[in-house]
Amino acid sequence: MSSDDRKSTYKPASDDLLAHNTLRWRILSIAVVGTVGFMLFLFVMLGVSKQNADLLREIRDTRYPVQENLVAALNELETIDSNLEHAFITANATLLDHSMLLADRFRAHLHQAMVLEPQHRVAASEFLTQFDEYYRNSHALVQAIIDKHMEFAETTTIKQQNSAAFIDLRDALGALQTQQTDALISTVDAATRRASNSLSAGLITGLITAMLLFLIAIFTARNILQRINSMVTSLKKIAVGSHDMAVRMPLTGSDEMTELAYWFNTFLEKLQQLTLESTAEVKRLAFTDTLTNLPNRRMFLRCLQTEIERSKAKDTNGFAVMFLDLDNFKPVNDQLGHEAGDELLRAVAQRLINTVRETDTVSSTEAKPDTVESDQPYPGQPVVARLAGDEFMMILTDVENSEQAAAIAERIRLAVMEPYFIHGMECSVGVSIGICLVPQHTGDIDNVNVEDLVTNADMAMYEAKNQGKNTYRFFDPALREATNLKVKLDNAIRLAIPNNELHLLYQPQFRLTDRKLVGAEALLRWAHPDLGTFSPDDFIHRAETNGQICELDDWVLETVIQQLHEWELAQIEPVTIALNFSAAQASRSGLPQVVDRIAGTNKHLLHNIEIEITETSAIDNIAVVESNIAALKQMGLKIAMDDFGAGHSSLTLLTHCQIDTLKIDKAVTREIESDQKCRDIVQSIIDLAAKLKVSTVAEGIEDENQSMALSALNCDVGQGYFFSKPLTSTEFTAFRKHISRQDKAA
Ligand code: C2E
Ligand code: MG
Ligand code: MG
Repeated sequence: MSSDDRKSTYKPASDDLLAHNTLRWRILSIAVVGTVGFMLFLFVMLGVSKQNADLLREIRDTRYPVQENLVAALNELETIDSNLEHAFITANATLLDHSMLLADRFRAHLHQAMVLEPQHRVAASEFLTQFDEYYRNSHALVQAIIDKHMEFAETTTIKQQNSAAFIDLRDALGALQTQQTDALISTVDAATRRASNSLSAGLITGLITAMLLFLIAIFTARNILQRINSMVTSLKKIAVGSHDMAVRMPLTGSDEMTELAYWFNTFLEKLQQLTLESTAEVKRLAFTDTLTNLPNRRMFLRCLQTEIERSKAKDTNGFAVMFLDLDNFKPVNDQLGHEAGDELLRAVAQRLINTVRETDTVSSTEAKPDTVESDQPYPGQPVVARLAGDEFMMILTDVENSEQAAAIAERIRLAVMEPYFIHGMECSVGVSIGICLVPQHTGDIDNVNVEDLVTNADMAMYEAKNQGKNTYRFFDPALREATNLKVKLDNAIRLAIPNNELHLLYQPQFRLTDRKLVGAEALLRWAHPDLGTFSPDDFIHRAETNGQICELDDWVLETVIQQLHEWELAQIEPVTIALNFSAAQASRSGLPQVVDRIAGTNKHLLHNIEIEITETSAIDNIAVVESNIAALKQMGLKIAMDDFGAGHSSLTLLTHCQIDTLKIDKAVTREIESDQKCRDIVQSIIDLAAKLKVSTVAEGIEDENQSMALSALNCDVGQGYFFSKPLTSTEFTAFRKHISRQDKAA
């Protein structure tokens, strides 16, 4: 996700940041998680320590008694050994005693036997001998036993000695064991105690640490958030349009937040400074025309308002408002390029300033007609402003009468007319000036407003243009009425087609040699229910200005095609119908498609239509006109150049486009008899047409002589009141039927 996306989805907290922002909860979460984690760690440690202590105790209580049992078993073995020895010793004595007893009893028995039994003496002595033998043997045996015993005794002694050593050793071992046991027990006890102490200490320390951690986290979070909150609140105010940038963060401490606060303060200082500078610059620019550096329309209107206030307060004897529009600026701009055009506008501006300074009626040192320092007007001083394009306006203070104003206007006109050298080229322009004097042209000053003054001066300027340009005119209330009519007209034209208020007149055209009808020109008429009937000169210009003209021309084409179709159905012999296209229509992109659509199923009738185009300054895109004409000719239409020899006619269209007819303008026709020059011009046009292999039509023939003169000069066709006034379609149809009958009769 880009930063822009984040920006678009982020919804800023509307209230206190401390109440809304998740950062606080994040820091608290860290503290809580940290504390809980630390506690868990302590508990795990506690568990481990406890296990260790238990193990130690087990060693002490379980493992050590096994050793003790071992020692006891050793002791038992020793007891068994001594018991065995004792038993052996006991068993030996018994045997000896028993042997002795047996021997004595035996001897006794033997003696008894010898005494008791003399007859058996021999046998007894033999037996005694045998007994002694036996006894000796027994004794020897006993002796052997005794020896053995002695040997055993020796062994026993050694054993006893060993036993003593053993006992010593055992005692020593026992003592050592006791000593070690005591040491082990005390060590284990000490270790257990220490572990237990450590655990308690760790637990207490952990708890204190956790609490401290928690408190520090809360304190830090609150401290950070409070400072961020103040910064956000300040920035928020600035972001929603507050110009109060005086707020500064306290720079206490030396932490990162203090660093942030320091740069926040520095940023605000810079922003405050930049805002002050840029506001001043924006204000200046908002009231300045960047091309000429003159006050612009907005500043001009403010100054004008100030001047009106001054007049109301009787601080001035009156002032003049001038509306200036350059003449011929467009051709210079087109020919030399827009950069040169800009340069020219700057030069004109400078001349205007110089002229106003020279003629300033207050004080030329104080006058600053070209300076914009702020958004404040400068009362009591002359103003030269540029409205747009080649339009300028002026306020001339303390101009008391029309003579003064006229003198200044004339000086301005002469100054502007002086040649200019732009990009090494010499060029010149004129200026049309409209003047409105306050209070002479406005009446009661209390009813005067800025808009009216500008409109008045504008209307006067238009009047100057209408009067031939490069001149000045004063405002006249009649101009306002004319303008109001124009506005009315503009609104009414828009409804002319939907309200069915338009119709065509057809002015017949005749071949001059035999006066045969060869065609007609369709001429537009507008019959308004309230305003009356208008001829094209009254409204075509308005329609061209307000962009209605193409719609009107489309309507004419459609009506002519319908008319041709009706005549076709009535089986009236076809003639060429000429209709007029405005400059806008001729240079309209996509015109062939429009014509094709309008013709619909009657495309074959396009062969009976001739389009009249007048070369005017309005035709600026000659390439489009050229391609339109080529396409229209492909579709079967003919092209005539209207009003040739008058107005703007040049050879541009003629050289670029395939023209069928040249229509000689009625102004030339009118003078053909009286003016040799006109005759020469007509002759030249007809010669030119012959060379280009195009036909000629003379319009505005009002009498026989003109017709004869044109015929003598080999003009092909004539049109004018002499032959016929423009006729309604019914009249023209009847006229055609009449001619058709005449032709048939002949
Ligand atoms: P245009 O095309 O040169 O038309 C000839 C004008 O001369 C017509 O004026 C016609 O009534 C007038 N006229 C004809 N015979 C005589 C005569 O013997 N003496 C005098 N003094 N005038 C004569 P209209 O009809 O008032 O048209 C004026 C201009 O308006 C036309 O001049 C043409 O440029 C323009 N216009 C006419 N109809 C249309 C249209 O349908 N569309 C456009 N765009 N312009 C049209
Ligand atoms: Mg015409
Ligand atoms: Mg004409």
